[in-house]
Amino acid sequence: AQQKYAVLRDLPAQARCGTTVSLHMNAGLMADLPSLEGSGAEGVGLFRTELQFLVRSKVPRREELAALYSRVMDAAGGRRVVFRTLDIGSDKVLPYMKPQDEPNPAMGWRAIRVGLEKPGVLRMQLQALIRAAKGRPLTVMFPFVAQASEFVAARRQLDQAMHYEGQMGRPLPASVEVGAMLETPSLAFASRDFFETVDFISIGGNDLKQFFFAADRENERVRRRYDTLSVAFLSFLRLIVERCAEAGTRLSFCGEDAGRPIEAVAFAALGLRTLSMRPASIGPVKSLIRQVDLGGARAVIEAAIERGEDSVRPFLMEYLRTQR
Ligand code: PEP
Ligand code: MG
Repeated sequence: AQQKYAVLRDLPAQARCGTTVSLHMNAGLMADLPSLEGSGAEGVGLFRTELQFLVRSKVPRREELAALYSRVMDAAGGRRVVFRTLDIGSDKVLPYMKPQDEPNPAMGWRAIRVGLEKPGVLRMQLQALIRAAKGRPLTVMFPFVAQASEFVAARRQLDQAMHYEGQMGRPLPASVEVGAMLETPSLAFASRDFFETVDFISIGGNDLKQFFFAADRENERVRRRYDTLSVAFLSFLRLIVERCAEAGTRLSFCGEDAGRPIEAVAFAALGLRTLSMRPASIGPVKSLIRQVDLGGARAVIEAAIERGEDSVRPFLMEYLRTQR
């Protein structure tokens, strides 16, 4: 099977209707980077920076991080890398952090909430990213943004770090793009102004789905109960696509579902043009997208929504069978 996908490596994920979807990979360690070549990913759509913090026994130093981020950019060889700032708390607890005794850590003090209230580590991380990027483009994304003001405050931290580095006479990145992860339903209803302010939005489907259905992603008993291709969830994704389109905001999807071929086709049919997934999923996703007419898939989805079905899945699968 790997061989079957190898021949697709340098071909675009171009659907039969002519639309091309951009496929990127998720990463979190230096060791993941060689997969860029093998998988044919166009870039790293999600670099989870917390892994570097999790494998250490104390907070890494700024220079250590800067060196690491610089090596990641070197390894990407000019391809875009989206660095997501620390997403700790919830399922990711740092060994050197005082454990927070929270009844619901996934909905608790995590990610950008920690970054804004205890900004020391976030600032250090942003400085490290700026130093690593010197003269190259830098792309940063903030996790778990639930309302616009959190993005504005986080972005201010980045602007201040840029200003500081500039004053110190250090070379700055060639360009800076700043995005927000949409992982809580609330952010889909942020103001038009918010959508125009962010450089891009990336849907963190793992978290978004758990909050949309109130089904814990860590709980085996409930986590598979609700379908990503349910009419409810796809209607919600359609709304997010529309809000981004209205504001001219670039949108991507970087949760695990982007790596499932049928889900990926549904997302592309709804208008998502950038998907980020584990490297091994790129071949299978590309292979299916290349066999499909996205307009046809869209019509099947719209019709199922219109009829008030529970899930689009059986209808989309039937449609895909007729296409191959
Ligand atoms: C997500 O929530 O979909 C996501 C990509 O982030 P993580 O899985 O690291 O929470
Ligand atoms: Mg998440």
